[in-house]
Amino acid sequence: MESDMMTEADMQSLISTLVIHGGTDGDEKTGAVSVPIYQTSTYRQQELGVNSGYEYSRTGNPTREAIETLINELEGGTTGLAFASGMAAITAVLMLLKSGDSVIIPSNIYGGTFRVLDKIFKNFNIEYEIVDTSDLTEVEKRINPKVKAVLIESPANPLLTITDIRGISEIAHRHGALVIVDNTFMTPYLQRPLKLGADIVLHSATKYLGGHSDVIAGLVVAKDKTTGERLKFIQNATGGVLSPFDSWLLIRGIKTLTVRMDRHIENARYLVEFLKNHAGVTKIYYPGLPENEGYSVHKQQAFGPGAMISFVLSDDYDIKEFFRNIKVITLGESLGGVESLVSHPASMTHASIPYEVRQKVGIVDNLIRLSVGIEDRETLINDLENAFKKAGK
Ligand code: PLP
Repeated sequence: MESDMMTEADMQSLISTLVIHGGTDGDEKTGAVSVPIYQTSTYRQQELGVNSGYEYSRTGNPTREAIETLINELEGGTTGLAFASGMAAITAVLMLLKSGDSVIIPSNIYGGTFRVLDKIFKNFNIEYEIVDTSDLTEVEKRINPKVKAVLIESPANPLLTITDIRGISEIAHRHGALVIVDNTFMTPYLQRPLKLGADIVLHSATKYLGGHSDVIAGLVVAKDKTTGERLKFIQNATGGVLSPFDSWLLIRGIKTLTVRMDRHIENARYLVEFLKNHAGVTKIYYPGLPENEGYSVHKQQAFGPGAMISFVLSDDYDIKEFFRNIKVITLGESLGGVESLVSHPASMTHASIPYEVRQKVGIVDNLIRLSVGIEDRETLINDLENAFKKAGK
């Protein structure tokens, strides 16, 4: 069944069962169907140099291992690793680089990823270059011997820009650079970057994987063992590990990933139809719209459009009033939870990207990002309609 040429139906059946029975399926010793929470920092050693396989929980913990094995199976890699946040995961992956190296990123990337490169890694002489990765010719032109990694999101945050993962991997590998894909918006249910040629896939598991807005977590999967071993070393050496309880919460969240995603997408498609025809919307970004740039590439590499929508509010509407009058949909950072969330990228998630860059790439001041939840869809439409009505100038 597992092949690079899986159909949507194959993929759905594989992932729908893996999310429930993959990784460590319950507890062998007692038969408990839920993985136990090993809330321990250390482990008794039988004698000097003899232990049960665990010595200290930063290095290894059975509950964390259960989520690490699970995400590895879901993404189809060799090594899964769990971190205390998506940013801890990204930081650990960037630690593969050395002083003098450079990483290509698109301008359209999560603001925190830009910030850690711009404000932290730059101090260690690791440079970044902003390149429009949706344009492979541009990537080919700009890649150079210093570039040791290309870090992308597809769809990217917040304009849902699509990058051809196969195409990027081909170029990067020809130049000896690693391909790292932040798969947060898609999850392995909709897109498996390692199967498309990427070397590392990572997640802010805080989002769809956790799914309930109750845990901050990050996950990384490496395609080959050597990279996996290097990342495991970094994880233990720098210590940004996920706690046993949060590992368990994440395992529990992932069990319902596929049913949640199906409903998220169903609701998102419905809301897109409403927004597309609304006078208050001048532009809409959604990978499921045939008129969206990158639609055909996305269709070739992913099994669904996801449930993130961005749109530009018309100048005839007051954006502050719009946000003030949204009642069911929650104004807040984050995405991917069961509850619909709305945010203002320019002042929230992408505030750390310089103003000029934001304007140039389209993260304009009246851009609104919507993470569509799994509530009743008519209630969501009514909520938006009411906000539009109150915000009209
Ligand atoms: N990657 C993406 C695409 C995100 O949206 C976020 C957070 O919003 C992160 C990474 C960072 O993850 P975390 O907030 O779990 O540290």
